[in-house]
Amino acid sequence: MTIHILGAAGWIPGVNETSCIMVENKGTLFILDAGTGLSNLRKYRAVLEKYDTVYLLLSHYHLDHMIGLIYVDPFIREKKFRVYGPGRMAYPETTEEYLHAFLRKEFFSRSIDTFSRDVQIRDFPSESFFIEDTKITVAGQTHSAPSFRITIDDRFIYATDTVFQAEAWDGISADLLFHECWEYETSGHDRHTSLQQLKNELPLTSFGKIYLIHHNPDWSEEDFQKIREMTEGTNIALAEDGMEIRI
Ligand SMILES: [Zn+2]
Ligand SMILES: [Zn+2]
Repeated sequence: MTIHILGAAGWIPGVNETSCIMVENKGTLFILDAGTGLSNLRKYRAVLEKYDTVYLLLSHYHLDHMIGLIYVDPFIREKKFRVYGPGRMAYPETTEEYLHAFLRKEFFSRSIDTFSRDVQIRDFPSESFFIEDTKITVAGQTHSAPSFRITIDDRFIYATDTVFQAEAWDGISADLLFHECWEYETSGHDRHTSLQQLKNELPLTSFGKIYLIHHNPDWSEEDFQKIREMTEGTNIALAEDGMEIRI
């Protein structure tokens, strides 16, 4: 499995673009979330060329995870485009209804249905399902709107936009975990996670490596330095756009 980081930031792009991770697994191409990081797809034409279908999985519908949808069609025009999101699993409307509303003609010149020759938009069908040969597992998280942790083949976990929930990690292990980090000291945030919580309450040894994603746009270089110091000697590191990780 190869993981490419296209967007490691949360909310507002800065040093890094917002939420977008590309995963190649068993001959299938996945994109997790469609933040401004999707604009980085232009650097991955050689990867895109290998696949005739792109599977986009949305953790939730907040705009820092969706806005890149208006950049994607030049890259997928000749491909099948499959989009999955939480929909009726957690919301009153389907993913298809939300994306049609988001990309109404008053807001963008093209309907998502015309982004490629073959577009399908679906809700997650269940908490565990297969896309081609890859097992996808989704689990609800606590956030200001329902968000979902996404696990690829029990090996790579993407957990963004969530408060830290210690009980959610009981019995869970993986080669690689991407977890959001919005602050380094715990302030009692009701939507996001701190590095302190991850260090103190996550069973770190259950994961080969942990990368911090969805960085706070307020962080200065001193804040990033502080995080590097706090994670020294641990299996936690800061994610950065352009990173490629193989597991
Ligand atoms: Zn977000
Ligand atoms: Zn969010």
